[in-house]
Amino acid sequence: LEVLVAPVLDPEGHNRGIVIVFHDITQLKKLERIRQDFVANVSHELKTPITSIKGFAETLLDGAMYKEEHLKHFLSIIHKEAERLHRLVEDLLQLSQIEQRRFGLNWQEVNLTEVLHNSLQVVRAKAEVKNIELIFMPPDEPAVVEADPDRVQQIVINLLSNAITYTPEGGEVRLSIDPWPDKGYRICVSDTGMGINKEEIPRIFERFYRVDWARSRASGGTDLGLAIVKHLVEAHRGEITVESEPGKGSIFCVYLYQKRQEQ
Ligand code: ADP
Repeated sequence: LEVLVAPVLDPEGHNRGIVIVFHDITQLKKLERIRQDFVANVSHELKTPITSIKGFAETLLDGAMYKEEHLKHFLSIIHKEAERLHRLVEDLLQLSQIEQRRFGLNWQEVNLTEVLHNSLQVVRAKAEVKNIELIFMPPDEPAVVEADPDRVQQIVINLLSNAITYTPEGGEVRLSIDPWPDKGYRICVSDTGMGINKEEIPRIFERFYRVDWARSRASGGTDLGLAIVKHLVEAHRGEITVESEPGKGSIFCVYLYQKRQEQ
């Protein structure tokens, strides 16, 4: 709490009382704290791959490069870590653009079935590697909404990609479109994966939140995917819901209005 005290003087300069202003700065402090945490997180996230790239490059220069199997192995690690850095920086740039509202949506009539087919193409190889079945039953009627097709595709790709990442080999990932009565459409992505604990659900949309450090590190995720998804859904004035049962799977649904909503 910030308190300001000032005297109230009449035109002759006599003291007529005092004004006390109480300013609740809890919210400001909280924002400052979030900002500090964010900078700390970003620095940590950037440092990890950089340390690894530096270390392996040095080892190679120190002589490991003369052994073919070391050369290949270390270069592939350097490559993987560089890719991770690249993704991280791209995601951060995008998130900062979105958060500063420096991006406009390219509103148009969008056929959701088409967008979902395109999204599936992008993640198909990733699913095949894990022998995960991708199931999509398109609706009979065309599902058309006013939206930004690239952004909707990005939302769906992120959700599909998470579903594949957090589902063990041989599992199933389903994609569906249903009417959202009187409003628009609902796109759902469900998986037969590890699920998320109830307490964690409200936090997974935060930047750099990961339920379990080890599993996410192994997945190569940047922990920014769902934060971006949430912002993109909100930019469309839509809604996103999650239901999950640990050990059984998760279902993420995005609700999009058929007609563009007033800002
Ligand atoms: P990441 O890049 O780590 O996947 P996200 O922001 O996309 O980051 O997701 C945040 C966290 O939410 C993940 O680290 C993961 O723990 C959890 N999560 C997201 N999607 C799923 C899912 N389909 N099943 C289980 N856990 C999930």
